[in-house]
Order: sequence, then C-alpha cells, then structure tokens
Amino acid sequence: MKKIKKLLVANRGEIALRIMRSAREMGIQTVAVYSEADRQALHVRFADEAVCIGLPPSAESYLRMDKILEAAKLTHADAIHPGYGFLSENEDFAALVSDAGLIFIGPSAKSIEVMGNKLAAKEAVSKFNVPLVPGTAEPIDDVAKAKKIAKSVGYPILIKAAAGGGGKGMRIVEREEDFQQQMDRAVSEATSSFGDGSVFIEKYITQPRHIEFQIFGDQHGNVVHLFERECSIQRRHQKVVEEAPSSILTPEIRKAMGEAAVNVARSCDYYGAGTVEFIMDENLNFYFLEMNTRLQVEHPVTEMITGIDLVKLQVKIAEGEKLPFKQEDLTMHGHAVEVRVYAEDPTNNFMPDIGTLKTYQRPQGNGIRVDDGFEQGMTIPIYYDPMIAKLICYAETREQAMNKMIRAIDEYEITGLETTLGFCRYVMQHEAFRSGNFDTKFVETHFKPEVLTSTPVEEEELLAVALSSIRERKKNNGTIHQEQHTISKWKQNRLH
Ligand code: ADP
Ligand code: ADP
Ligand code: MG
Repeated sequence: MKKIKKLLVANRGEIALRIMRSAREMGIQTVAVYSEADRQALHVRFADEAVCIGLPPSAESYLRMDKILEAAKLTHADAIHPGYGFLSENEDFAALVSDAGLIFIGPSAKSIEVMGNKLAAKEAVSKFNVPLVPGTAEPIDDVAKAKKIAKSVGYPILIKAAAGGGGKGMRIVEREEDFQQQMDRAVSEATSSFGDGSVFIEKYITQPRHIEFQIFGDQHGNVVHLFERECSIQRRHQKVVEEAPSSILTPEIRKAMGEAAVNVARSCDYYGAGTVEFIMDENLNFYFLEMNTRLQVEHPVTEMITGIDLVKLQVKIAEGEKLPFKQEDLTMHGHAVEVRVYAEDPTNNFMPDIGTLKTYQRPQGNGIRVDDGFEQGMTIPIYYDPMIAKLICYAETREQAMNKMIRAIDEYEITGLETTLGFCRYVMQHEAFRSGNFDTKFVETHFKPEVLTSTPVEEEELLAVALSSIRERKKNNGTIHQEQHTISKWKQNRLH
C-alpha cells in the first residue's frame, strides 16, 4: 500500500477545486494544471503548486497527456486525479500514468476501455444477468439488415454511436422511411465527434426515466453500490437536475437494480468509483445503458444521502485500501437535489450565454452546498463546458429539499449572463416534478420559454410588491421603513 503525498488534478473548474479540498483535508499536497485561459482560476489559487500546460483550447492543454505527465514529474506528484470529462475516460492516459510509476485515481485502463465503448460494454455485461435494451449487439454496416432488425425491435428506435458520450451521437428514427437518412447522419456525427463511425440500434423507450447507480469497488474484489440518482430532467440528452433517492423506486426494485449495477462492475473487474446508468420504462422495467468509469458530475447528491466523501474514498481505494464497509452496512438518509447552473439561456433553446459574472452571490444556510469555480467579476471562458456551479440542497424529505432549493435559487444572485437557474426553479415548483410523475421529456412536454419571461403571474407579483409598498408608505406617513423583496433575484435581473 502506497500513501499518496502529492496529487496532481488534471482538470479545471469546480471539480478540480472539489477534489483538491478533499485532498487537503487528507493532508495531501495538491498540484493544479491550467491553460492560459485559466490563469486566475480558483483551482489554480487553491492548489499548493500550479503548472501552466498550454493554450486555452482543451486540445492544447487539458487534453495534452504529455504536458500533464511532464507537470507531474516537475512537481514530484505521485498521483493524478482526472476528474470528469477531458482525459477521465481515456484508457491510454490511465495506462501512461501507471507506466510513469504514478497512481491513477480511477479504474484500470482495461475497465475504461471495455466500458468506453457502449457495444463492448453490452457484450461484457450480457454474461452477468443484466437486462439490456432490445437492439443490435454489433455495429451496423448493412442498412437492409439493420432495417429488418429495427422492424423486429419496433419503431421508434434510436441509432447510437458506440463511442458516444455527453449526449452526442444519437438519432431517433420514428419510421422506416427515415432510417437511411438518420443512419447517415448518425455515422457522420459519430465520426466527427468521436473519430469512430460505428453505430448500433436500440429500442427507443418512449417514457424513459434515467436512473443510475453509484458503485464502488476496491482492488481486492469487493464491490458495493451507494444507491441511485435520478437524472431524468435533461436537455439535449444531458442532465440538468438530479436527485437522490429516486421518487419511484421501491425497495425491491432498488435492490434488483443495485445488484445489476454491481454485476456490471464485476463484468469488467472494476475498482474505484463508477456509475452504472439505466433507463427505465413506464412499467418500471429497467435496462442497462452504459457505465461511466469516473466520478460523476452529480456525485454530491450521493454524498449527501450517504454521508460519504466519494473523493476521499477514491483516494483510499487507489492507495490499495479495502472498502471500509459492506453492502449491508450502507444506508441512506434524507433527500438531496442538485441543479446545474449553466451559462445558458433557457428561453433561447438552452444556447450557451458566455460572459462576465457582473454580480455573483451564492446562497447560504443549512443544508445548502455550492460547488463552483468562479467568483464575481470573472469571465466564463468560451473554451470549456459552460457550467458555472452545482447547487445542492439536502433536507429530511423530498418536499423539504425542493422547497429549500426554491429558497436557495431565489437567493442566488447572478447577473451579466443568462443561466439555467430560472428553468430549475420552474422544475422545482412544477406539479409533474413534485408529484414524481415525469420523464426525460419534461422539457418538451412541460416547458415553454414564455414561462420564464414576463408572465401574468410575474406581473401579479410585481403588482403585489408595488401595492404593499404603497401600503407600507401610507402606514409610515410616506417613509418606507421596510423594503419588500418577494421576487427572486434571478427574476429581478430579468426584469431590468
Ligand atoms: P455526467 O453523466 O457525469 O453528468 P456528462 O455526460 O454530462 O456526465 O459529461 C460530463 C462531462 O464530460 C461534461 O463536461 C461533458 O461535456 C463531458 N463529456 C462526457 N463525455 C464526453 C465525450 N465523449 N466527449 C466530450 N465530452 C464529453
Ligand atoms: P451518453 O453517453 O451520451 O450519456 P447514454 O446512453 O447514457 O449516452 O444516453 C444519454 C441519454 O439519452 C439518456 O439519459 C436518455 O435520456 C437518452 N436515451 C439513451 N438511450 C435511450 C433509449 N434507448 N430510449 C430512450 N432514451 C434514451
Ligand atoms: Mg450517459
């Protein structure tokens, strides 16, 4: 067993900071790497040492394995944490790190390779009693044959890139007439995004819920799951609201899914933190989608309900320790909700809205956690993912957690750019979300941009504020002694 003394974090933004915080609590020195766009970034300021690794585009900095390894050598780091995105699911990087005699905080290169390809992953898990979405087990190259398969699976179907990720490389086909065209598009998108044009067919689940399990394995063959996260509120097949636990799982289904998730991990001799994603249909049948071989963006909701610091556990597992608990020792408490605060405009099709954080005030108080990498006055760089922050609320019950989230969103003050906060507030108060009766089509079904721009409700609210302030003024002989703020901060900003 080798204790880690100095950790290099090969990432940026909130996740780099989040990892370094845990490392520091463990007495581990930290090294940041950064691109020229991130000179002033918080992760650079927080780290004990920092090394500039290149120009702003990720291909010239955060994706440069050679530069990152050089930085590790220069600073005498003995381990590398890849975070999520960037090189986190790159098996060559994991292998290079180990070959250089450093500890890679993640699974083996082999596990990453198997799970990095959705078809290879399906093949691996098929021997482990894990339910799969009906479809093809191999890449499709013969259109006539593929059409036959699509017909037997039944339309609508989904054409997916085997090497896909980040919600990219997916095409829904409603009718046979559209098959050829959609397949051509899927292949070209897969080739340009992932450098691998292989695609396959899956039945398109029409009222799908995305439910994933956090799993953890050690290097001694032990694997457990840390319960589920529901991530059905998505735009562009990408998550924007997550929660734990899911409001629809019964203890029986949770147990069955948890066992399937552990089996997925066993199918590739997994160790470290991983996420097994499932899709669930309206009859609560679940099917394996893919495994993400890294720390997940939404891991904080799991930390809240289990009380376990997943990054610290990752470090200990990488050092060779055994899992400190068995499945039966694990329990969950309370309810956690996370919203992703993206610099995007929900009223304009969630298009990125990059700019400077003119004002930036985080919400505070009991049960609130903000993971971010920015401060007031900073500019969101155009080169990377436009996520500003993750806002996580924890309370005893689901309803209390949602109410806390609304309060926290109202307290969050961001001006200078549009964010997803208003949309997330809309989700939190929506009957479908509150009742638990929602699926991944929430945005298409329930969301119209108008609900965020000036609505009658908002005008009523404004009127109410105006009236009550007049009343106050009258009461106090024309002097206002109390300011009324019943409108949330993000709404006020929109009104200006
Ligand atoms: P999670 O399932 O943890 O929410 P996402 O799918 O949203 O993860 O991806 C996490 C991060 O990794 C995001 O920044 C996303 O843009 C990036 N990402 C994931 N897969 C890919 C990929 N294949 N190509 C490019 N970026 C990716
Ligand atoms: P990625 O690697 O891009 O994350 P996933 O396979 O995890 O790809 O799918 C991303 C999202 O796309 C899911 O969360 C879900 O919303 C949707 N999706 C994927 N497969 C299906 C399917 N067979 N039927 C319906 N929706 C799907
Ligand atoms: Mg996925």
